[in-house]
Amino acid sequence: MITFNKSFTQQEPIPDAGIEQAIAVMRSGRLHRYNSAAGEPTETELLEQEFADYQGSRYCLACASGGYALHVAMRAAGLQPGDRVLCNAFTLAPVPGAIHNAGGVPVFVETNDDFTIDLDDLELKAATADARYLLLSHMRGHLVDMERLMAICNRHDILVIEDCAHTMGASWKGKKSGTFGRVACFSTQTYKHMNSGEGGFLTTDDDEIMARAIIHSGSYMLYERHPAAPPREAFEHIRFETPNYSGRMDNLRAAILRPQLAALDEQCRRWNDLYRVTEAGLKQVCGLRLPKRPAAEYFVGSSIQFSLPGQSEATIRHFLACCDARGVPLKWFGDADPKGYTSRFDSWRYLGEPPSLPQTEQVLSTMCDMRLPLTFDEADCRLIVQIIAEVCETLFAPDDTGAQRP
Ligand SMILES: *Cc1c(COP(=O)(O)O)cnc(C)c1O
Repeated sequence: MITFNKSFTQQEPIPDAGIEQAIAVMRSGRLHRYNSAAGEPTETELLEQEFADYQGSRYCLACASGGYALHVAMRAAGLQPGDRVLCNAFTLAPVPGAIHNAGGVPVFVETNDDFTIDLDDLELKAATADARYLLLSHMRGHLVDMERLMAICNRHDILVIEDCAHTMGASWKGKKSGTFGRVACFSTQTYKHMNSGEGGFLTTDDDEIMARAIIHSGSYMLYERHPAAPPREAFEHIRFETPNYSGRMDNLRAAILRPQLAALDEQCRRWNDLYRVTEAGLKQVCGLRLPKRPAAEYFVGSSIQFSLPGQSEATIRHFLACCDARGVPLKWFGDADPKGYTSRFDSWRYLGEPPSLPQTEQVLSTMCDMRLPLTFDEADCRLIVQIIAEVCETLFAPDDTGAQRP
C-alpha cells in the first residue's frame, strides 16, 4: 500500500537574499521601523512602497498580522461600537475575531457549492440586516463574481473590506484582488503566500482611511515617515483623536519579505501548476466534486478543496481516517468539534447563539481541504491523488449488486 511521507505544513526556506538582509538589519541594531540611519529609508518603508506598487494601490501600511490589519481597517473605515458587519460564514477564526475586536457585530452570509459567499443571500441581508460594512473573505482563494458583488454593495451603500489572506497575487478579470473594495488586508503569516512568521498589510486609495490606519498602527506622530501614505494634511484633523493601537511591522520581517515579494508572481505560477495536476487527478475520482472555477478568476492554488456530496458523516470520518493513515491528512470543516484551523461559525460562541445557516452547514459538512506547499512537486501531487482515489474506490465503488456501499 503506497503512503505519502512529506509534510503538508513544510514551507520553503526564506530566500538567501532575505536571510542576508535580515542579518544586516540585526547587525545594524535598527529593527524598529522608525529607527533609520539619517536619510536612509528603512526596510519597512521600502516594503510598503513595493507592495503598494505591486497592488497598484496608492497606499500601503505594513503591520503586525493580517488579523490586526482587518481590525484596524474596520476602525479606520469608521466602524462604531455595535455596527453590524456582513461577513462570509465560511471563513477563518481571525475574521469574526477582528470584527469583535473592532466593536462590530458579525452577520454571517451563506456559502454556495463552489465555496464562495452566496450572492443571493448577500443581496437579501444587504437589504435587511442594517449593515454598512461587508468584510469579504476570499476564503481559500475562491473569488466570487466581483462585479456582481460590488454592484450589490454599491446599491445598498455598503463599504467593502477585502480579506485577501488567501488571494495575494490573485485577480478577477485582470484586476488585482484587493482593489475592488475600499480597503484590503493581507497576511504574511507562515502559511500564506509570503512568509515572515507573522505580519500583514493594509492597502487603500482612501486618504482618510490610510491616515487613520497609520495612526492606529502606532506611528508616534512619525506618519511622515511613510512613503505609501497620503500627504500630511490628511493627518492634521485626525491625529489627536485617533488612538494608538500599537501593531507595527519591524525591519527584520520587512527584510525577509522584500525578496519574496519580488518572486511572488513566479511562486503563484508554481502553486497553480501543483493545483492543476491535483485538480485534474481528483476530477477523475468517482464520488468527489471539485468546485467550478470561472475563467475570470486568476486564483493562487496554494490549497485545494473538494467535497464528497451526499456522503454521511460516518463515511466522511472513515474516508478521512483512511487518507490520514496513508499520510494524507485532510482538513474537514464538518466536525462539530473543531480541530486545528477548522473552527467555524458555530464555534465562535462569544458571539452568542449561532445563527441558522443551513446551506453553509450543508456545504461544510462534506468539504475537504488540503494545503499544497511549494515543497511538493507534481509527482507528489499525483501520489496524493492516487491515495485519495484508492481510498474512494474501496469506500464508494459500487459492489456486485450495483448498489452503493454505505
Ligand atoms: C490567516 C488569515 C487571516 C489572518 O491572518 P493572521 O496574519 O494570521 O492574523 C485572516 N483571514 C483569513 C481567511 C486567514 O486565513
